[in-house]
Amino acid sequence: MAGRGSARFHIETLGCPKNAVDSDKVVASLLADGLQAADSAADADLVVVNTCAFVEAARQESIDTVLALAGDRKPGAKVVVTGCMAERYGAELAAALPEADAIIGFAGEGAIGTRVGLADPKRKPTASAAERRGGVTDLLDLGRPPAAAPWAYVKVAEGCDRACAFCAIPSFRGKQRSRTPESIEQEVRALVEGGVAEVVLVAQDLAWYGRDAGEPGSLAPLLRRLDPLAAHGLQRVRLLYLYPSEVRDPLVATMLELDTVVPYFDLSLQHADPALLRAMKRWGSGDRFLSTIASIRAAEPDAAFRSSFIVGFPGETEAAHDALLTFLADAGLDWAGFFAYSPEEGTAAVSLPQRPPTDLVGEWLRECDEVQDPITRAARDVLIGTEVDVLVDEHDAAGGAVVGRTHREAPEIDGVVRVEAAAGGALHARPGAVVRVHVTDAVGPDLVAKPVERSANPAAAS
Ligand code: SF4
Repeated sequence: MAGRGSARFHIETLGCPKNAVDSDKVVASLLADGLQAADSAADADLVVVNTCAFVEAARQESIDTVLALAGDRKPGAKVVVTGCMAERYGAELAAALPEADAIIGFAGEGAIGTRVGLADPKRKPTASAAERRGGVTDLLDLGRPPAAAPWAYVKVAEGCDRACAFCAIPSFRGKQRSRTPESIEQEVRALVEGGVAEVVLVAQDLAWYGRDAGEPGSLAPLLRRLDPLAAHGLQRVRLLYLYPSEVRDPLVATMLELDTVVPYFDLSLQHADPALLRAMKRWGSGDRFLSTIASIRAAEPDAAFRSSFIVGFPGETEAAHDALLTFLADAGLDWAGFFAYSPEEGTAAVSLPQRPPTDLVGEWLRECDEVQDPITRAARDVLIGTEVDVLVDEHDAAGGAVVGRTHREAPEIDGVVRVEAAAGGALHARPGAVVRVHVTDAVGPDLVAKPVERSANPAAAS
């Protein structure tokens, strides 16, 4: 094993974008504790698995990952399980997973190096300040290393104040705790100065940001606060997870007004049938959602919409399912995901009767895809022949093309745009640059494009 001061770590991240932010912060804390990044898991003295506990399939994937990495570790290396599973099932995991050297919940995530005895003793532990406050709070205010891509997630709050009947997140993430606008601005500024051009703001319930601090409606002012960072290179701010009741003015007007904020609406709708939404303890109805979408489209025809839906919630009937299919056809969302309901311990829905049979849920899921897939395809096809702005994420391996995204594609979630050089030409756009392109084709969720001869953005040239 390497000496204590030069122990090397590998971190494996499962789950959602919010977990990716936590992993970044764990990396920062390990670096500050004197550890170094390993080239691979098999090369590391410390393997951290940041788990996801969202639904059964995610938990199984987390456990499989721990077992695989523990099996491949080099002699003497330590395996630490952290993240949502560690928080939610700490004691059970410790008993069931002897392969793991430590199970560390949220309060210890910023001090993993110290907890497993691998921190360089000459370094001041990074978590000490947070521990003095009575425990690290979900890493929210810890620093992070420079981003490896020209985009980065920024978590503005942790926890959730709602009580959706299917969701266990509030039971282990707790009530919402918003960061201060100052600390968010500071993090975004540092990311932008490090080359990030797009920040993706995330939280369990993003539009609720600030309410726990006695300042409801704080998201719009936060967007205004970040907007001047355009002068430093911030091109785009994207918002994920907007609870539909909060998608109204002044938030929508602010999103549409500010050049930095992309007109991308990730609405967490979950269903369209009003009775089923009430059973889920959620707000809204298909009609209300349609009217929100229509009013945004009237103000911004280029607005893009994504949502996700739960299929097979207890009490869902054929009629409710048909209402969802009708809603999908009427809404014309650019992107939609469908998930089978998963009963979760500690939620109101876990003991509800009338769960639709698994076969039927499978059939309903297929029907949702059958309605949505052509809509998504049409939304891509209609872009062929148009000009769009692409933020370059990376060069492809062969070097003849760059891969990027318009405002319609969230990183790692939706499709991408592959921009190919004209025959015999080369592409010099650097990651983070915005290039004007002409869309020539749509392949599945992805677009293919050629650069428009005269770039709309002089910064596009490397
Ligand atoms: S808004 Fe509902 S689904 Fe989302 S995290 Fe909160 S309780 Fe869970």
